[in-house]
Amino acid sequence: TTTGPNAADEGNDLRTPIVAVLGHVDHGKTSLLDKIRGSTVIDGEAGAITQHIGATAVPLDVISDIAGSLIDPSDFDLPGLLFIDTPGHHSFSTLRSRGGALADIAVLVVDVNDGFQPQTLEALDILKRTQTPFVVAANKIDTTPGWNPQEDTPTLQTIEAQSERAENTLNQRLYEVIGELSDNGFSADMYWRVQDFRGNIGVVPVSALTGEGVPDLLTVLMGLSQRYMKEDMAVDLTGPGAGTVLEVKDERGFGTTLDVVLYDGVIRTDDTVVVGAKNDPIVTEVRALLQPRPLAEIRTEKRFEQVDAVTAAAGVKIAAPDLDDALAGAPVRVVRGRPEEEVVAEVEAELADIEVDTAENGIV
Ligand code: GDP
Repeated sequence: TTTGPNAADEGNDLRTPIVAVLGHVDHGKTSLLDKIRGSTVIDGEAGAITQHIGATAVPLDVISDIAGSLIDPSDFDLPGLLFIDTPGHHSFSTLRSRGGALADIAVLVVDVNDGFQPQTLEALDILKRTQTPFVVAANKIDTTPGWNPQEDTPTLQTIEAQSERAENTLNQRLYEVIGELSDNGFSADMYWRVQDFRGNIGVVPVSALTGEGVPDLLTVLMGLSQRYMKEDMAVDLTGPGAGTVLEVKDERGFGTTLDVVLYDGVIRTDDTVVVGAKNDPIVTEVRALLQPRPLAEIRTEKRFEQVDAVTAAAGVKIAAPDLDDALAGAPVRVVRGRPEEEVVAEVEAELADIEVDTAENGIV
């Protein structure tokens, strides 16, 4: 194996791991994503967080900037993290890739005051069933009585700045979260005590409001991906694209479009794609690949900009004819370089698999 930014095994590239955020309503999933998206990078050297369709890409240099001394970027060769923007386990459970979960890794958000709630347990069940590695973000630590907020600082640093009383109250709440994980069959501990993340769940105390612990959360996600998922991330990024439909949307000027998360290969304009649909799979040709315009331009320009190609992992809007019957959660495959019938059969098989699974588990 080689190391370095472009390290790849057997001629493959390393793609960005896809991260989903799950948890009970109001426990702070959206706020946490907003906080990560809103993180400004002070150091001019770093790249930027980019908004994709349905996802947010946080490159390694940005993570490294946010994480500061927690990360040594030379320890990593995965390019960063791609967060799916639609939080919640209903979207998670419908989003599949080749029969598994679309997300490579997940963040289970638990409000430290509210503890485990019905949707926390549902999310745990789904994570268990799909065998998705995850960490727990023990959120809203800033609501601890007597808390002295330290904006955007690492967890241990902010805990050091607290009174003994506040620290004790927080610890009590965190140990309740660890206890509830244990009651549900997961061995867990504060993330800084976890040696083997395959057998133990790391709990990361955070505040989506003040940004405390967000450096730790990004560090742990990056570390987990690098250590345990690197092999899965080694794909041929020049191969035919494969993705999952997040949403089927009518878009003025483009008709019915697909918001897709691409998890493998590349998709180009003029590619022929096969899309899972209500009846037979749709075979159509990509007319346009669209990304949101950078925020600064949104008021003066059209909402989307066209790109020639998109490489995994990424979110993208596909405009193409005949997409009306496409299904959210269904596979999308680029045909390039192989018989169309083969790809159609692949999509059909995968869709049947998803439907069976959906029926069995009562998830819609
Ligand atoms: P979601 O339903 O899981 O997406 O939860 P939201 O992100 O919408 O958050 C629910 C409420 O909790 C909102 O009023 C947020 O402002 C608040 N909230 C979220 N995270 C925090 C936090 O870390 N600290 C505090 N004090 N409030 C938070």
